[in-house]
Amino acid sequence: MINVMNAFPDVMIDHDNKYFYEGLLNHRLILNRCGDCGTWHGEPLRAICGNCHSWNNTHQEVSGEGTVYMMTLLHQGPAIEGVSYNPPLPFAVVEFDIQKGLRVSGKLIGKNTDFSAIGKRARLVWPAGQVAPRLAFEIVEAA
Ligand SMILES: [Zn+2]
Repeated sequence: MINVMNAFPDVMIDHDNKYFYEGLLNHRLILNRCGDCGTWHGEPLRAICGNCHSWNNTHQEVSGEGTVYMMTLLHQGPAIEGVSYNPPLPFAVVEFDIQKGLRVSGKLIGKNTDFSAIGKRARLVWPAGQVAPRLAFEIVEAA
């Protein structure tokens, strides 16, 4: 099994984010959640709850469904396996349904990755073939 530190050499893995990156390797989105007040924490992952200042940090899987809060086109960025910036990479911030204001970012793939994606429903997807998976979202088409 690939080691999380070898898989993400560009990331400083620490006690606050290791569950997140281990989750990526297993195609699971693991976020920090306060064990006292229940507040979810998006990026950056911190040791202390921003709501109640508790150190009682827990780690739980989320489904990754929400609404595109904002997006941009990245013309350049860090060298990451499987990521190209030509053409520019659609990159979105998705606000998850489970908590108002809980936002997580990732590349936007599939159809409708232009700026009309803002405000649309999105879900987390795991493209095949990534040794070190990164978060990716696709727009959910209205039925
Ligand atoms: Zn808390």
